[in-house]
Amino acid sequence: MEDRRQLMLDVLEGKPVHRIPVGFWWHYYSVPGALRLVQDRIKGPSRVPPEVLWRIVPKNPFRAYLTDGLLKSSLAGHKRDYLALRPDFVKIMSDGFFSHPSILENKVSTAAGLRLVAPVGPDHPWIRRQVQFVKELVEFYDGEVMVFYSIFAPVQQFRFFAEYIVKDVEGFQDMLLESREDVARAAEIVADDTILLLEALSAETGLDGVFYSVQSAQRRGCDRQHHDEYIKPTDMRVLDRINELWEHNILHICGYENYRNDLGYYSQYPASVYNWAVHTEGVTMAQGKELFDGVVLGGFDNNAGSLIDVGTSVEVIEFARRLVEESGTDRLILGADCTISPDIDLDRLALIRYAAQEASHRPPGERITDAGE
Ligand SMILES: [Zn+2]
Repeated sequence: MEDRRQLMLDVLEGKPVHRIPVGFWWHYYSVPGALRLVQDRIKGPSRVPPEVLWRIVPKNPFRAYLTDGLLKSSLAGHKRDYLALRPDFVKIMSDGFFSHPSILENKVSTAAGLRLVAPVGPDHPWIRRQVQFVKELVEFYDGEVMVFYSIFAPVQQFRFFAEYIVKDVEGFQDMLLESREDVARAAEIVADDTILLLEALSAETGLDGVFYSVQSAQRRGCDRQHHDEYIKPTDMRVLDRINELWEHNILHICGYENYRNDLGYYSQYPASVYNWAVHTEGVTMAQGKELFDGVVLGGFDNNAGSLIDVGTSVEVIEFARRLVEESGTDRLILGADCTISPDIDLDRLALIRYAAQEASHRPPGERITDAGE
């Protein structure tokens, strides 16, 4: 049987491979349609307080350190998808643990809350439950594949709560700009606990690496200098620890919901693999190889209505082949810009892997369509 762990390791180490690995990932929570409708209609910040949300959406992506429901579905979903697809590697999704508990408990979405942020320490369920969750999955995968875990940069952990629960992303961006020192200070506390989590993951699970998610501030005025002074220090403190603990890590420059990022800026963040929103940013895999010193991961738009969602099988296969041809077979992993919809049929992902395997064997420049097939 094919050694998929070795295949992935070979790509990461720059060795020639007989086929291009492919990887996709999903969220394992969903917001009830009725709630989504109500919230979408509300202009400005949500009038549904977090404690009401926790009651009506118990399987939310924030509170798995307090309740079991989401963790159970997430574990079951990870296992089900693994057995169905037998992917080339796994990226475990950290649903339920999006933001540091102190952000949630103090409802930090504006400057006033920042000084309430406090450390939780190594024994807090936010850390212990993530370690148990990752350990169970790593053991389930039984060494067959390399396994990476999602970790969000400290400032991202503030954004998630403000954007998805308080629904006030503008307020969050104001806070970034107007209370820059306080944000940086609170982010240091979140970074400390995130590092404790990383150290426990390294010591207690067989995890192979981290999928580290960063994002630009999305606000005019938060320029490179602002990032350098108030965001990058905590981004890097966590990333440096990740790179000390594991040899191969993935930098995810998140373009979910069409956010744009300063890719040149993030090319300075050290990682083995770089994953950005190829379609939103308009930067191809081949261009990414010029920009980033590492393996490039991606190629497919993850958004609803995109090729992977609504294209025909023939179109998906043709696109995957073209991606390999245009990007070259070295330093390449096929995947998507970000999380894909659970509605996308797993057969479709298997087709992409098949197409990538076929295209891997063709000499550069030999176009399949030109060969009369
Ligand atoms: Zn993302």
